[in-house]
Amino acid sequence: MNKFLLLPALLCISYFAWPVKSGRVTSSFAEFRPDHLHDGVDMISSSYDVFPVEDGELLYMWNKDLFPFDDYTGSGNYKFISHSAFISQYLHLDDSSNSAKKAVTSEPIGKYANTGRSFGNHIHFCIIQPKDWSSINPFTMAQPIEDKRQPVISDIAFDIDGKIMIVKDKTTVRLTKDRPLLIKAFDEINKGDRHGLYALKVYHNSKIILDIKFDKIVSKDGQLLLSGRKFENIFNSSFYLVSGIKWNNGENSFSVRALDYSGNETVKDFTLIANKEF
Ligand SMILES: [Zn+2]
Repeated sequence: MNKFLLLPALLCISYFAWPVKSGRVTSSFAEFRPDHLHDGVDMISSSYDVFPVEDGELLYMWNKDLFPFDDYTGSGNYKFISHSAFISQYLHLDDSSNSAKKAVTSEPIGKYANTGRSFGNHIHFCIIQPKDWSSINPFTMAQPIEDKRQPVISDIAFDIDGKIMIVKDKTTVRLTKDRPLLIKAFDEINKGDRHGLYALKVYHNSKIILDIKFDKIVSKDGQLLLSGRKFENIFNSSFYLVSGIKWNNGENSFSVRALDYSGNETVKDFTLIANKEF
């Protein structure tokens, strides 16, 4: 392709603002939750003010003021705002029902609170692509947040009949079948964070056996899929699940690569000695 034709498209990339000013991310997209895929980013800030991430129009809202006899939805009070290329959603807002049709980035659309299924005041923010209602990882479209910390790969484990067994490098393991491996890994933006990764790759004897990018959640046939996988094929409790391993009897080398949104990468190489009993 002619590179001059590509150039205008590249110049059009513009990042939207985050919904809070000087905010802090408290949960990231697709990080582990006991029973669901977290389809947005949670944030807090000192002012609690929530701004639309781009100019747009109010598409839909639910607010206790408007429906005083209804229970809060799981999302609490919320607003959907449509923009030229996507819809932004703001959950757990407070009870003030400002229903202005026009949304501009200089004017708050409300304040975040603790309404709905929420544990503490925060804004849950998501980006929806209307053409297929997929949920896009806001980190891929919003102004980059400085993150100089590498992801952490803390544990390698097996699930033996519901019991998590942590293993170290060069451990000998008795296998009665081709068992999956569990990997505990997380990303830190600030020290102590336990955010989800942006990408995870696992190699077994130099062959890639897992390649997940946490960039969007797609709804297909009533299922939510991430990189083509269902929730139960991504996580086993708070560990990432690596299934489909064809174990060698003897040495098995693994290389795990964890990436965050800023391109920081952590690589962990280890060897497990399998005693195959099957
Ligand atoms: Zn959330």
